[in-house]
Amino acid sequence: MWVRKRLDISWRDLLFAVTQCGWPGNSLSSWQKGGGAWCGADDVLPCLSVRSGFDLLLGALDFPPKSELLVSALTIPDMVRIAEDHGLVAVPVDLDLDTAGPSVESMRRAITPATRAVVVAHLFGGRTRIEPILDLARQHRLLVVEDCAQAFHGARYRGHPQADVSMFSFGSIKTATALGGGVLRVRDAELLRRMRDRQAAWPVQGRWNYLRRLLKYALLKVLSSRACFGLVVRTWAALGRDYDRLVNGSVRGFPGPDFFARIRRQPSAPLLTLLARRLEGYDEGRLSRRTSNGEVLASLLGETVACLGLAMNPHNYWVFPILAEEPERVIAGLRRAGFDATQGQSMCAVAPPPDRPEQAPRNAANALAKIVYLPNYPELPERAARKMAEVVLRTAEKPAFLNNGSPRAPQAPARPVSGSPAVEG
Ligand SMILES: *Cc1c(COP(=O)(O)O)cnc(C)c1O
Repeated sequence: MWVRKRLDISWRDLLFAVTQCGWPGNSLSSWQKGGGAWCGADDVLPCLSVRSGFDLLLGALDFPPKSELLVSALTIPDMVRIAEDHGLVAVPVDLDLDTAGPSVESMRRAITPATRAVVVAHLFGGRTRIEPILDLARQHRLLVVEDCAQAFHGARYRGHPQADVSMFSFGSIKTATALGGGVLRVRDAELLRRMRDRQAAWPVQGRWNYLRRLLKYALLKVLSSRACFGLVVRTWAALGRDYDRLVNGSVRGFPGPDFFARIRRQPSAPLLTLLARRLEGYDEGRLSRRTSNGEVLASLLGETVACLGLAMNPHNYWVFPILAEEPERVIAGLRRAGFDATQGQSMCAVAPPPDRPEQAPRNAANALAKIVYLPNYPELPERAARKMAEVVLRTAEKPAFLNNGSPRAPQAPARPVSGSPAVEG
């Protein structure tokens, strides 16, 4: 069975982090020693997570109560929760399903005199077209925050030069994971200083706490290996339990009560050290392999099956979402063929404020109801990707539609099947 997602971290990196936990050290110097494109850069703030960094940002911005924050309609619910905790109103901007990014039309409609900022999420490993959003934001003097949590692309992308803030996540299921950690690039030095000051007042993540986390994910890494995972699934099914819930629940970032107390902590020294190592030493060959699998899937499926966000470029296919009229059937078919596809449970379609029902994100809600994530990672061989596409074509009898029922434009698949991912200019 090909598990839905592999932890993107090697045993060497895990072992390195474990030894760091027993190594008393000054956390900032361990970060600054990194010395590459990310570590030690003046405009970069390492945090416990993107959610922690976003909380620092909203705290430092200190917008008046009831200010409006436009957000990509598809995101993780905690981002909205954090905005609300700061007294802000999150207003969803519906997605254009081809780019998986906020539609400019929907954003234009959403802007009011109370709007202060827009949070654009680059989803699924691709980068959405942010330029029209930057233009519109500039006209209305909105701050632009780029959520690159799913869009890490090694040294090739450190955020759009015109975005005010760019946020990268190294949480457990993300590319180049450090089993935690977020990195924010903040262009305004004064804003960054206020964020640093706020962070300095937070307690530091305990290193034993981080060590426990490392050990838990080491165990999950074993259980999700190709050798073990089939057995886990069969055992769980024999016990009459839903392993989908088990898997999704076990990788949740900050579960349980005290959410805000949990995110409002500084990263520990071992986390920062691993983060620096991952950022500066990430093997981009892994991204190329994942990209080429994604391109195989796109070329085989793109014509007949609705694939979300295929127009994004560059795209490294952190996940490969398709839309199916009957997601359960497709998932069952894939499971029988040895592929652990999932509907996922981590993202939500953001609800509009009660007095703005016209901002209800129809595309995002529709997509979310039909979404199926196909497994994709560097370890997946190309022949497995081809087989998976075959199964999807066989099971997904009815094509799903993009953008409010209009059939997908009969355009050529986004990119050629082979070759390296587009290089940033
Ligand atoms: C994972 C994710 C986050 C949160 O990142 P953490 O570092 O886990 O807080 C935020 N936004 C999106 C779109 C994500 O996928």
